[in-house]
Amino acid sequence: MSTVSTPTATTARRLCVIVPVYNEAAVLPLLMPRLDSALATLPAAIEVLFVDDGSRDATPQELARIANNDARVRVLRLARNFGKEAAMTAGLDHADADAVVILDADLQDPPEVIREFWTQFEQGADVVYGVRASRAGESWLKRFTAATFYRLIDRMSDTPIPRDTGDFRLLSRRAVEALRQLRERHRFMKGLFGWVGFTQVPVRYHREPRAAGSSKFNFWKLWNFALEGFTSFSTVPLRLATYVGLLTATIAFGYGAVIIAKTLLYGEPVRGYPSLMSVVLFLGGVQLVALGIIGEYLGRMYEESKRRPLYLLDSVTPPAA
Ligand code: UDP
Ligand code: MG
Repeated sequence: MSTVSTPTATTARRLCVIVPVYNEAAVLPLLMPRLDSALATLPAAIEVLFVDDGSRDATPQELARIANNDARVRVLRLARNFGKEAAMTAGLDHADADAVVILDADLQDPPEVIREFWTQFEQGADVVYGVRASRAGESWLKRFTAATFYRLIDRMSDTPIPRDTGDFRLLSRRAVEALRQLRERHRFMKGLFGWVGFTQVPVRYHREPRAAGSSKFNFWKLWNFALEGFTSFSTVPLRLATYVGLLTATIAFGYGAVIIAKTLLYGEPVRGYPSLMSVVLFLGGVQLVALGIIGEYLGRMYEESKRRPLYLLDSVTPPAA
């Protein structure tokens, strides 16, 4: 398994590949051989840092086996499933290298692309992010919703969030150090990556279908993920509520004037139940939506204010000296 050349350790720069894993026992045996051959000639000292995000299948055993056979492998196990964003954060906190790469365990991010990331890094880039030139094995619905999401968030947020970009990327040491300072609980990593700035370079690649196992993200999770993106990186929804409120108030004012004029001119036999009903329901609806938007932000502030840790570690393999 140790086919990766270990260049003279004093001069070679160090690369740490962070792999968040959650119930990936099926795909893990495929990962290391592929990673090995992809990075075989990379002029860097490689370390692989698996973050086991509280897996409940045979993942821990698989990881232990991999770590036993390979001195370059470290495994962090979180106390429970904290989600991919927290798992990546744990990886970034524990990586000690000149550059890190974040890689999905399911081989959807082809490890061969890391070579190009590294080339850009050597030319001075701090963040090299993979842009998906194609999305094999994804339904048109997922592609469509993803495209809509990126278009919207691009409009609504001041932080540049590049399209068709996932978490697959390389970060220089100073970019990692910058990210470590962002301890917000609601972590929309794509936004955080963009927020740190520095020299950011895209690399296009073809996203492959999952090598084995199944996706951990269903539509509901993706919807919540999108909400996270909007609320973490934009206050436009709040402002939108104000504008909708202003608009309805203006319309209501005009309609009120019409009713008064009509009453003065023609008198008012009791009628108008349908219009009354629709106005009441409409306003009720608008108010509830506005409250909901405020609630989304308020709830996040509440969770932020508790300042809980972002994840808890269960174990570190091999144990830190
Ligand atoms: N993952 C994780 N914690 C979770 C869900 C997913 O660490 O709660 C990992 C998963 O093991 C994989 C990566 O995040 O390495 C991407 O997950 P997946 O392939 O299921 O997402 P998709 O590619 O379908 O968006
Ligand atoms: Mg995947």
